[in-house]
Amino acid sequence: MTRRTDNLRAKVSRILPFSCVDGPGNRLVVFLQGCNYQCITCHNPHTINHCNHCGDCVGECPAGALKFNENNNVVWLKEECTHCDRCIEICQHHSNPQITDYSVEAMLDLIRKQRFFISGVTVSGGESTLQLPFIIALFKGIKQDPELQHLTCFIDSNGSLSISGWERALSYMDGAMIDLKSWQRETHQWLVGRENHRVLQTIQYLAQANKLYEVRLLHIPGKSDLDIEVEAVGRYLQTLPESVQIRLNAFQHHGVTGEALDWEKCSKIEMERFHAQLSHFVTRPMTMPQVFV
Ligand code: SF4
Ligand code: SF4
Repeated sequence: MTRRTDNLRAKVSRILPFSCVDGPGNRLVVFLQGCNYQCITCHNPHTINHCNHCGDCVGECPAGALKFNENNNVVWLKEECTHCDRCIEICQHHSNPQITDYSVEAMLDLIRKQRFFISGVTVSGGESTLQLPFIIALFKGIKQDPELQHLTCFIDSNGSLSISGWERALSYMDGAMIDLKSWQRETHQWLVGRENHRVLQTIQYLAQANKLYEVRLLHIPGKSDLDIEVEAVGRYLQTLPESVQIRLNAFQHHGVTGEALDWEKCSKIEMERFHAQLSHFVTRPMTMPQVFV
């Protein structure tokens, strides 16, 4: 295959070799570092920003796995790391140094090793589409490789990408999972720091293109407006093609920092109440959370 993608690289915070909740079938999931939302309820705040190489974490690493290179940038020595996550606790910048820089070719090599055990690849985040050129090159590489072209290519996104961005990715992707975090634009702005008009445009565009696999709703009791606006939300979801899955997620405290730690968690009973309300307007089955903590 062409080598022109060799200079395209991505900041990868984690790779999950197998997942059955990030799209259809058994999938390898690549989590990219960086997000353009500032969700109050973020479960992984250390994935929001790219490292600014302040060095605060270097002296705190008990394993000596962090050091400065000749350019005064912080580098992570993966082999030395004990994954204690002390550096994540220390970082005041919503980042972490445990990032691996992958070229498209290196990522394709990794996927080749897993190809007999997976049905596809999902690129997630952070907000994955902030590194769209890498995603397009990766998916293109998968589709052009005889050993990999049986794998489906999915994007997990907050829906903030412009339509022109989705147009560029469309012919290489098989589907997308999109978050709808609230209904009213003011509530969305408050919860994530941005309005939701792009999200609604994304959902509409991908649905029409037959590339919308799943819409996910995060229910935060008393804070999000998805239950207050349940009729509008339900009628909207009902307009989507029958093939689009609806997944209900319950707000929990795991990984959350700041004021949202004082917010009520979504219990099983509360989720069942929300589900019952939504079911008045949505006729397709909706996936419920399996675990409540
Ligand atoms: S997780 Fe961070 S602090 Fe802990 S050993 Fe690895 S690099 Fe060091
Ligand atoms: S990971 Fe955070 S604390 Fe460590 S160098 Fe980067 S910005 Fe500074």
